Amino acid sequence: MSGKLKPSLDCKNPFQDLKIASWDPLRRVQRSPCPLCGRSRKYYCYDCYVLVGVTRELIPTVALPVKIDIVKHKEEASGKSTSAHAKILSPDWVTIYQYPDMPKYDKTKTVLIYPKEGSLTVEELVASVKGSSSSSARSTPLKELERVVFIDSTWSQSRGMCIHDNLSDLVCVQLKDAVTCFWRTQWESKHYLATIEAVYYFVKEYHDHSSTQAYDGEYDNLLYYFAYQYNVVQGAISQREENMQRKRPAVEDTTEDKPSQARKHPKTAQ
Ligand SMILES: [Zn+2]
Repeated sequence: MSGKLKPSLDCKNPFQDLKIASWDPLRRVQRSPCPLCGRSRKYYCYDCYVLVGVTRELIPTVALPVKIDIVKHKEEASGKSTSAHAKILSPDWVTIYQYPDMPKYDKTKTVLIYPKEGSLTVEELVASVKGSSSSSARSTPLKELERVVFIDSTWSQSRGMCIHDNLSDLVCVQLKDAVTCFWRTQWESKHYLATIEAVYYFVKEYHDHSSTQAYDGEYDNLLYYFAYQYNVVQGAISQREENMQRKRPAVEDTTEDKPSQARKHPKTAQ
């Protein structure tokens, strides 16, 4: 399993092979006030990182192999960010900080997920931590891997954030090519992942290189909300297209065969 990431997230049918828990509890959720801040929320509160309208035992909890810190840019809208998915689904493993309010990290135990010249692959990271980095002329300060830091921001904001004193001396790691299924189109590249996708791809790739056991979907539920929302959005798009098709049939045949029908729907002509 050391090859390329299995393209199970190809965007045609992205989540079909993943082991994701039932979404039935989500379908029953009503919008209601967050128990901590009182704001109206659905599924969870993206400010307080608590569930709203559903009990904990109905929602999966994902155990991770390392601690995850997510440093969020303050202008990254919480409601649109997928960082909260990680905190809700892996509450004991994930901490979210608002940049620049973050710890000074120990560079012997911490890496930053950020692609740049000289960054390690996950495979090289694992080899480096094990001290078996034969191909690596790169010597890293890493002694063990305790914590992995992700940046949640736009691509241009991240360039400034990663040179902050608390992050700048961390070993950087980049993920293999993974194609985003994020349904918003603000990203500069289809390889620029939503934060929850990046966390998922990292732990999965880390497992592939560090475990003797074949990957068996252990972390797939990290995409529990992401896949659900993706499906809701895709369903809405399909529905809209279907509705448009239904309104449009006379237009396709236009004038010669069915002139009388076309005249009945003058507003749908393009
Ligand atoms: Zn709240």
